[in-house]
Amino acid sequence: MSTEKYAVIGNPIAHSQSPLIHQAFAAQCNKDISYERILAPIDAFEMTVRTLIDQGYQGANVTVPFKFEAFALCNEVSERAQHALAEAVNTLVFKNGNIFGDNTDGVGLLNDIEHNLKFRISGKRVLVLGAGGAAQGVLQHLACAASVTVANRSVDKAHAIVAKLDETIFSACQFATLSDPYDIIINATSTGLTDTQLPIPDVIFSKDCLAYDMMYGRDTPFMKQAKVAGAHVHDGLGMLVEQAAEAFYIWHHVRPNTPPVMTMLRALKKVA
Ligand code: NDP
Repeated sequence: MSTEKYAVIGNPIAHSQSPLIHQAFAAQCNKDISYERILAPIDAFEMTVRTLIDQGYQGANVTVPFKFEAFALCNEVSERAQHALAEAVNTLVFKNGNIFGDNTDGVGLLNDIEHNLKFRISGKRVLVLGAGGAAQGVLQHLACAASVTVANRSVDKAHAIVAKLDETIFSACQFATLSDPYDIIINATSTGLTDTQLPIPDVIFSKDCLAYDMMYGRDTPFMKQAKVAGAHVHDGLGMLVEQAAEAFYIWHHVRPNTPPVMTMLRALKKVA
């Protein structure tokens, strides 16, 4: 059996944990794969993908800033990618000269919140902070909630997004008007990267609520505020591993066991 070749394409890419995650899944499932980080020049995403196809790669993950270009490059996309608001894909399959695309971010978030953290979304009051690519990729997966409020710095963007969704569930607002408590609060802004405090009041953190930051690897100001307010606080490492598990399933038709891989990544961070 020959080694199947996969990669993650981004710019920058050196920080990506995807090779570690996919090699750990492959070891669990007795799959012989290679998985590399590929730094694509900002203006040469398509050329990079075509080169990988010529070199016999079976598939690739796609990360910032190429998820939208990847969507445009696909000959076929999954139903969930087709219906996602973001028109972005993070998983590519190369087969018979075709490029198939899927977006596993929403499933990754859902699996982490519901299966790993054991918080039910159905029937809950959910607040999503942010309306960028990551928020747009997951919103439709939250439609089982009783309500989903999207708060964003640029409030017009939040209004434009919820206008495409079920208005009985989804609504938009600015940070300044937030005054109700929520059961689940998801920080999908990139403020964790810059240690920026969001202008949100403590009252939004109801007793025993889940405060989830999509950012991983550091305690963000959002996580610190939520902790003080008494919330159950989690970062986005589980989402990262779960979205990778879904990509692994798309490529290999087998579901890896994710908790040991999360434990491994957290342990690596402690010794780094
Ligand atoms: P985008 O650049 O598409 O969106 C950024 C969002 O953050 C926008 O809503 C933007 O608001 C908001 N924002 C940025 N700066 C500020 C600020 N100073 N104050 C208030 N709001 C701000 O990024 P993505 O959506 O792709 O990523 C968002 C986060 O999610 C990142 O931290 C990323 O690492 C993480 N992520 C994690 C994943 C995982 O697997 N765990 C997967 C994907 C993303 P505005 O519209 O007003 O500019």
